[in-house]
Amino acid sequence: MTCADKNTVALHSCDSYDEAVLKELILKSFDELGIHPADYRGKQVMLKPNLVRRMDASQGGTTHPNMLAATAMIFMEAGADVMVAESPGGPYNAAALKLVYRGCGIEAAAERVGIPICYGSDIISHPCPKGEFIRSFNLIKPTADADLIVNLCKLKSHGLTKMTAAVKNYFGCVPGVEKVEMHARFPERRDFCGMLIDLCRMITDMKPTISILDAIVGMEGNGPTNGTPRKLGFMMVGCDPFVMDRLACEMIGYEDTVLMVEMAKERGLAPADLSEITVLGEDYKALCVTDFKAPDSDAAKALKLLPNIFGGRLNRFLQPKPAIDKPKCVGCGECVRSCPMKTIEIKEKKANINTKNCISCFCCQELCPKDAVKIHKNWLIKVIG
Ligand code: SF4
Ligand code: SF4
Repeated sequence: MTCADKNTVALHSCDSYDEAVLKELILKSFDELGIHPADYRGKQVMLKPNLVRRMDASQGGTTHPNMLAATAMIFMEAGADVMVAESPGGPYNAAALKLVYRGCGIEAAAERVGIPICYGSDIISHPCPKGEFIRSFNLIKPTADADLIVNLCKLKSHGLTKMTAAVKNYFGCVPGVEKVEMHARFPERRDFCGMLIDLCRMITDMKPTISILDAIVGMEGNGPTNGTPRKLGFMMVGCDPFVMDRLACEMIGYEDTVLMVEMAKERGLAPADLSEITVLGEDYKALCVTDFKAPDSDAAKALKLLPNIFGGRLNRFLQPKPAIDKPKCVGCGECVRSCPMKTIEIKEKKANINTKNCISCFCCQELCPKDAVKIHKNWLIKVIG
């Protein structure tokens, strides 16, 4: 029903968001991978975009409306019932969803091709029997109802996980502010990444999934929302998000430094050796970049060199922390609502962070609409590099 082989991906260069070009490339990739959209005639196909918050697609942080439209057309022409479902940051209700879908251009694209968007707020609980960090998840209901999930993910840098691509996009199946609660429940980076792996594994075990990774224009630096758009010029399609992330991190020069990918390798979910991945289409080496900027919060290399003393408390103390750029802050309170540790308050119309309780999750940076949350690195981390 999906890819003939989970370790195979289709990779193609692409420098356009022209809908016809995208459609042709997706069809070509499906053909190479042995994916037949006609298998989903009369079935429900859920398109899961990446819409962290309201922002224009030209910023490189959210699924391009033409990518959604092109994918929708392929499955509609094959006779499937196509719909869109996602839970961005913030509350999971119709009013909040509408703002994000409209602001990201997805509402207009969905209307144009004639597919519904899920504005319901129903939630289901699903067991996670193979979970190593968590034993069940609450999910937005369409995740359970769909016969196929098409994961329309973006390749970006990320403040907490360094990279987000196919695996992490499934975090948007966890409803609304429960995502904030997950950060409080898993304050250590390793535990949080382990939870994300459990989630992705559970969903891909639940039902067929296909991932279309848009790296035509990704985001580097302070992603997933406040970085810089970066033209990477390729699209990757596959059915195993762990395999795709393994190759993607190599292609942007992040090899061996993305904890989520390293943990997936340890758990046997991602190939240890790149030669185990079959790349159809184009040679991945010709599409690699070596200067993809890491987020300012990336201190993994320096922290690795420091001895793990005081039960890891030194490392926690030295973690980069957020700091408010007061002139840019408009006091909207978005960071207050997104902070799992409730350690931000608004005083005199400006955000103030009590970093004593901060777990360096960078949700505040991710959801700040004014790019007013900067990263402060301890001098020792700066020296070690
Ligand atoms: S830091 Fe950003 S999110 Fe927080 S109040 Fe200021 S502008 Fe709003
Ligand atoms: S202040 Fe920011 S980085 Fe710190 S816990 Fe709150 S949201 Fe996370």
